[in-house]
Amino acid sequence: MLALRYDGQVARVSEVDPPAEFPESALVRVSLAGVCDTDIALVTGYMDFRGVLGHEFVGTVAEGPPELVGRRVVGEINFACGACATCNSGMPRHCPARRVLGIQGADGAFAEYVRVPVANLHAVPDAISDSTAVFTEPLAAAFEILEQVEIEPGHDCLVLGDGKLGLLAAQVLHAAGAEVLAVGRHPAKLAVLRQRGIRTAIASDAVLGPASLVVEATGSALGFARAVSALRPRGTLVLKSTHAEQGTVDLAPLVIHELHVIGSRCGPFPPALRALETGAVDVRSLVHARLPLARADEALRLAEQLAPDICLLDIAMPGGGLTAARSITASMPQTRVVMLTVSEDEDDLLSAMKAGVVWANTFNRFDPTSPFGGYKESGFGREGGMHGLHAYVRLEDR
Ligand SMILES: [Zn+2]
Ligand SMILES: [Zn+2]
Repeated sequence: MLALRYDGQVARVSEVDPPAEFPESALVRVSLAGVCDTDIALVTGYMDFRGVLGHEFVGTVAEGPPELVGRRVVGEINFACGACATCNSGMPRHCPARRVLGIQGADGAFAEYVRVPVANLHAVPDAISDSTAVFTEPLAAAFEILEQVEIEPGHDCLVLGDGKLGLLAAQVLHAAGAEVLAVGRHPAKLAVLRQRGIRTAIASDAVLGPASLVVEATGSALGFARAVSALRPRGTLVLKSTHAEQGTVDLAPLVIHELHVIGSRCGPFPPALRALETGAVDVRSLVHARLPLARADEALRLAEQLAPDICLLDIAMPGGGLTAARSITASMPQTRVVMLTVSEDEDDLLSAMKAGVVWANTFNRFDPTSPFGGYKESGFGREGGMHGLHAYVRLEDR
């Protein structure tokens, strides 16, 4: 079968053997799999993983218990032993002998077939489409916050980071009645939250906090210090970045302000499936592109490009993405900012160039082969905005 395998050097799509059978497992034919920051971290050495990547999936059971065969399913990623003291105390996700799908000791879901313990599978209700169901795993991770912290109506929460997990955590907290401010670096991603009535701010502009709860989901070592400084005394910090680079951490503020710090990883699937079914959380606008398995390596690269250091901004929007781009490049000179616009206004483009833009390029039609080929589906663009003049205004070469 076809799969995206990482051999310690490169991730490559190739023919591999079907996943090996193990007791009480089911064989799932994968319909869709999601690319996540963890996959990108894995191919840069995180967890020292070798094997088939991918842990966010939806598929149909091909072999397994008769009542499951033919059912659409999603799967929890921690394969527990089910027999140790940790498993017996109700924490199978923490089983010390666990394997983790596409992350640690178990081949993942960027493949035609994946093998998952039957106990890990959850049937997907008919009302949830594949492209929505594929978000169950990361959404469950966002729901883990509600397992760990009691959220009261109006609870003041700050979510740092506008990657997938940050966007989902903000929506989950909002749906739970919290008063959320989501802070990120990508205006277009934050716009998804504003449509849901969630307040947002650009990281470089925002005065942060004080908040009772801060969720750190930036994946950056700097995020921890920012999160700590944004907390009220006795506030709670939830850490969601599993693979942030190592850095020196000042623990004194935790003592001085009597802060609570909670590590938070995988979460429960049932509330995530319910939220997807009722539409309490919107995931469709989080899809940037959809590629066939044969181009899975490309999907990984595309996800990397869309990850934190690139901003896609629409300078045709009122107020100008240009202002935002300027403030991002001024405060974070390392950040690569790419402006993608549907503007047909030459003045807009000229003013972009006058603002210190070295490189600008325009072309007349949507280019599906461009690295931003997912633009049409991305939620960055506006409906019907694909047939005007497009411009990539690149600020990185100033
Ligand atoms: Zn993930
Ligand atoms: Zn165990």
